[in-house]
Amino acid sequence: MISLKHVSKWYDRFQVLSDCTTEVNKGEVVVVCGPSGSGKSTLIKTVNGLEPIQQGTILVDGIAVNDPKTNLAQLRARVGMVFQHFELFPHLSIIENLTLAQIKVLNRSKDEAQKKGLALLDRVGLTSHANKFPSQLSGGQQQRVAIARALCMDPIAMLFDEPTSALDPEMINEVLDVMVELAYEGMTMMVVTHEMGFAKKVAHRILFMDEGKIIEDTKKDDFFNNPQSDRAKDFLAKIL
Ligand code: ADP
Ligand code: MG
Repeated sequence: MISLKHVSKWYDRFQVLSDCTTEVNKGEVVVVCGPSGSGKSTLIKTVNGLEPIQQGTILVDGIAVNDPKTNLAQLRARVGMVFQHFELFPHLSIIENLTLAQIKVLNRSKDEAQKKGLALLDRVGLTSHANKFPSQLSGGQQQRVAIARALCMDPIAMLFDEPTSALDPEMINEVLDVMVELAYEGMTMMVVTHEMGFAKKVAHRILFMDEGKIIEDTKKDDFFNNPQSDRAKDFLAKIL
């Protein structure tokens, strides 16, 4: 579903990604971890073309992300992305947040979009908040809305970049629970997170990054039980 081959990227003269090769198959959950500044956010943003690359190829469902002929807006409509900060439209109600892109990008009717929006709001346990504004919801609730909004677009894959790291501790689990459920339903997911409990529960593979390189790309159990590199061992010792 997602394939990166020999991807390198520079910010000016600083090389942020260095020869990154990996793939995420349909229905697979891949957790990306590693120290701060190792390139995790940059890597995940390259997948839906939010960051251009200078070398290598990225394919999403067979579409070459970095081909100038590729319609990135169309691609992004099919790949859901949830960031650390919720990024809901503050001036729109929750249901309007959920319907806007469905109507504008997918050309759904208002009725159809509302039906879908309400169904997904129900799924994340927030039906009664449909007519509120984002500022009236807690951080955890806003992040669940952000996930529901992405799911409204019937994505072929979901990308998450530290979706719980800006949340108060008591709200982390309500967001992780939604993600765990998605994983069990077979959603293809690439998740940057430090939540190793989540990784242990649902990840199929772990990518460990350091200094722009994918240092380990292994099955979950191998990563936790038998990390190969000293850097991954260090990282796990600090985080577990
Ligand atoms: P991570 O998500 O693992 O913390 P990032 O992908 O955000 O890492 O950043 C990797 C490196 O690239 C860091 O050294 C960061 O300072 C640098 N970087 C990130 N974004 C930019 C940018 N827009 N311009 C220049 N350098 C950047
Ligand atoms: Mg980051």
